[in-house]
Amino acid sequence: MPAVANPNRSKAFRLITIAASGACSFLLGLWGMRFGFGEGFAGLSGPVVSAIIAGLCALAAALAALSFFAGVDESADYVFHETQLDKLTGLLARPAMIGRIADAAQRTIRDASPIFLIDIDIDRFKQINDSIGYSKGDELIRAIAKRLRSSLPANVVVGRIGAGEFAVLYPDHPGLESIEGVVQMLVERLMAPYHLRSHQQSVNISVGIAAMPKDGTDPIALLRRSNLALQNARAAGVGNWRVFHPDMGRVADHRNWIESELYGAFEQGHFSLHYQPQFDLRNGRIVGYEALIRWRHPSRGMIPPVEFISIAEETGMIAPIGEWVLRQACRDALHLPDDCFVAVNISPVQFMTRDFVGVVRCALESSGIRPERLELEVTETAMMQDRDRAAAILKELTEMGISVAVDDFGTGYSNLAYLIDFNFHKLKIDRSFISRLETDSSSGAVVSTIVGLSRALGVNIIAEGVETENQATLLRAAGCETVQGYLFGRPAPLIEFDGEARPARAAMH
Ligand code: C2E
Ligand code: CA
Ligand code: CA
Repeated sequence: MPAVANPNRSKAFRLITIAASGACSFLLGLWGMRFGFGEGFAGLSGPVVSAIIAGLCALAAALAALSFFAGVDESADYVFHETQLDKLTGLLARPAMIGRIADAAQRTIRDASPIFLIDIDIDRFKQINDSIGYSKGDELIRAIAKRLRSSLPANVVVGRIGAGEFAVLYPDHPGLESIEGVVQMLVERLMAPYHLRSHQQSVNISVGIAAMPKDGTDPIALLRRSNLALQNARAAGVGNWRVFHPDMGRVADHRNWIESELYGAFEQGHFSLHYQPQFDLRNGRIVGYEALIRWRHPSRGMIPPVEFISIAEETGMIAPIGEWVLRQACRDALHLPDDCFVAVNISPVQFMTRDFVGVVRCALESSGIRPERLELEVTETAMMQDRDRAAAILKELTEMGISVAVDDFGTGYSNLAYLIDFNFHKLKIDRSFISRLETDSSSGAVVSTIVGLSRALGVNIIAEGVETENQATLLRAAGCETVQGYLFGRPAPLIEFDGEARPARAAMH
């Protein structure tokens, strides 16, 4: 660790303080003697005067030493603040945190009581920082750190170990909340909106946990393990947490492999689009097609989007890939029946890129399709990151004549107030509700409520992931007339016949 000098305590300053306090106490002593002895002072014998002067010298030296050590103390404090604490948040900085993990690991070996290392990371923090600007990014980090610190008991060690990453050492004590309880509480609290000076900002977080001594005692290895667990949690979706398991190393290898292949795959054109029809149950007509990206790897075959979209988001590759999807889908729409639209999935990262609306406009104009033939599927997560900006983007898209569907509806935020502020045209009920329709009556109630909500808001409704006749019947009964799912057609590439294209294997109903 580099030595840090305390600018308030330079060498000259220290010498002057010591000399001044020594001289002052000496003079004070002499004056005191004169005052105490009065005229008798002159009559004192030589040895007595020497003894008194020696005593005064000792007192002066003691005072000087006191001043010196007070200075050292202050400097030590200063150095601690400079090197051990993170300047932005006041939490422990990464090197100090590593030291604390090492201490905790030693303790767990000695007294065999486990301690958990909790790694908390803000999803896509770099992109958030780029889109809101660094000073607001700093304000956000401070707010998150403050909320994290205040959510945990004072004796729990908390540090900031990366730009948007925090670590917590949580002991497994009988008196404390269980690790599951505390992590769940942290996820919920940290994902609630932050009121920054300029706007309201929400973040998603992922959490990974490693346990000492079970998962090791080397602080660097422990951090790597908790981070592997975190990567696993992130791959599973929004606001997840995972406990480290040795198999996770393999998952990480796979993710690294995908990351290294992604750019080349894009450059060499290994991506394509498949289309899945959306049906109107009332007349059996196809009203639109959802474009779903496919990656065919020359040696490993098909790689599903759930395996690479989140990596493309983290690496920034989502911007060129997303733009390609938009352009290709608009071009493909030219070959689809003129009364059908194409629905394109928009990643939250892509939605928040600086010139998102410009990219959409370009894709539309270069294809020449009518704006009504393009629908964008945007998740609640995307809209909630920066509400004001999202509202402005949605307004612009609406003015251009493009329709927006809220994808995976029901899985995101429970605060529905935003629905009133945002311009959108369709709610897409998430597959998880449809798959439970036949077995779980509360899913039926959720679907009916969403249908009611869409009517109240005057927007359309569609259900995704419909696989059985029974589900379709229940949906119709609930008032949902537009559906998409394997029952009506699987995603398939477009093939052309008679100048018109249709997904190759889309089953007609
Ligand atoms: P999503 O937007 O919820 O898309 C629907 C997913 O459900 C698709 O998976 C689709 O093949 C699958 N599916 C459709 N009908 C059924 C059904 O009846 N049963 C079941 N079990 N599944 C059904 P896919 O193609 O693997 O895509 C997964 C996710 O990847 C999509 O979820 C979407 O979030 C993302 N994705 C796909 N293409 C793109 C893209 O071009 N851009 C972006 N940003 N994300 C994409
Ligand atoms: Ca979708
Ligand atoms: Ca979905």
